[in-house]
Amino acid sequence: MKEFDYVIIGGGCAGLSLAYELEIHEKLKDKTLAIIEPRDEYKKDKTWSFWGVTSHNFDDCVKKKWENFSINIPDKTNYLQCKNSPYQSIDSGLFYEKINNILNENKNISFFKDISQIDLKDAFVFNSVPSIKKDHRNLWQHFCGVEIETKSNFFDDEIFNLMDFDCDQRESVHFFYTLPYSKNTALVETTWLSKMNDNSQKDYDKQIKDYIENHLNLKDYKIIYREEGAIPLFYPIDKHEKNKINIGTAGGMTRLSTGYTFLNIQDHSRYIRENIENISNVKKYKISTKYQFLDEIFLRVLEKHPEKMSDIFFKMFKASPKTVIKFLSNKSNFFEDLSIILRMPKLTFIKALFY
Ligand SMILES: Cc1cc2nc3c(=O)[nH]c(=O)nc-3n(C[C@H](O)[C@H](O)[C@H](O)COP(=O)(O)OP(=O)(O)OC[C@H]3O[C@@H](n4cnc5c(N)ncnc54)[C@H](O)[C@@H]3O)c2cc1C
Repeated sequence: MKEFDYVIIGGGCAGLSLAYELEIHEKLKDKTLAIIEPRDEYKKDKTWSFWGVTSHNFDDCVKKKWENFSINIPDKTNYLQCKNSPYQSIDSGLFYEKINNILNENKNISFFKDISQIDLKDAFVFNSVPSIKKDHRNLWQHFCGVEIETKSNFFDDEIFNLMDFDCDQRESVHFFYTLPYSKNTALVETTWLSKMNDNSQKDYDKQIKDYIENHLNLKDYKIIYREEGAIPLFYPIDKHEKNKINIGTAGGMTRLSTGYTFLNIQDHSRYIRENIENISNVKKYKISTKYQFLDEIFLRVLEKHPEKMSDIFFKMFKASPKTVIKFLSNKSNFFEDLSIILRMPKLTFIKALFY
C-alpha cells in the first residue's frame, strides 16, 4: 500500500482549500499528498456566501458581490450598507474546477475513494469528516435554496435580503434569504434554526413556492438549481490525536451563531500552510473563545425563546453595520462587542448564563 507525507480525508471545501493553499505556496514540491474523497464527480452542490472581511484565494469563483442589504421583520425593514466588506457568493462548481485543475498538474498529489486504499501509518492527517454524537438536544441550521430564473427583469440586483422573518415561525426560528445574482436570477432560501430530528419544517419546496409566488409576487419563473443542507450549531467531536488535525466543520470552523464557515476555513488553511514544517507541534487553531462563549449564550436564548429571535436579530443590525459584520465574522474588538451586547435584551441574556 502506498505511503504519503500528508493525507486529507474529505475533498470538500476544507480539504480542497488546504490542498490548494499548500500547492500554490509550493509546499507539495517534495512532499506527497493523498486526498480521500468518495464522490464520483465534482459538480456545483453549494453556494458559499459571506462578508469579505479578509482576502481569500477564490476571487475568480465569486458569482456576485453586494454593497447593500436588508433585514426585515413583519412591518419593519432595515436597509444597510456593507461597502467596506461586500457580501459575496462563491459558486462551488467553479471552486472545485479551479482547484482540481491545479492539483491534477502535480504528480505528488493523488486521489483515492477510500481510506483503506492507503497506508496512514507515517502520514500527517487532515480530517474534514465530522464525528457527530447522536444528541438530539443539539441545534442545526437547516435550509433549502433554489436558484430561479425569470423571463423578464424582476430583481434589484444591487441589494440582497439577509433575513426576512415575515413568515411562518412554527415555534422555531425561520427566515427567508434572497440573493439576486442578476435582474432575472436569484437564490431564494428557506432557513430554520432548530433540532435536526424535527421534521415539521421539511416541506421546503412548498415553503419556497409559496414565498416566491405569494410574498415576492413572482409567478413566471423556473428553477435552475437546488441545494439543501444542514450545518451543526455545535462543535463535532474533536479530540486531540498525534499527527492529526481536524479541519472544516469537523475542526470547529463554523461560527455557531451564524453557520458561517467558509472564511474561517480559508484562515485555517493559511495557518496550516504557514506552520506546515512544524505541524506536529503547532498550537491548535480555533475560533476565539470569546466568540465561543458569546455564541453559547446566544444559542441558549435561541433554544429557550425562539419567538424572541427575529427581534433580537433585527435589533442587532441597529448597531453600525460595519460593527455587526465584524462581530459576525469574528473580527470585532472589545468595544464593538460591547455595542452589540448592549443591544440585546439584558435580562434574557443574563438569565441564559444560568440555564
Ligand atoms: C448546502 C450548504 C450551504 C452552505 N452555505 C454556506 C455559506 O453560504 N457560507 C458559509 O460560510 N458556510 C456555508 N456552509 C457551511 C460550510 O461552509 C460548508 O458546509 C463547507 O462545505 C464545509 O466544508 P467541509 O470541508 O468541512 O465539509 P464538506 O465541504 O462537506 O467536505 C467534506 C467532504 O468529505 C467527504 N466525505 C464524506 N464522508 C467521507 C469519508 N468517510 N471519507 C472521506 N471523505 C468523506 C464528502 O464527500 C465531502 O466532499 C454551507 C453548508 C451547506 C451544507
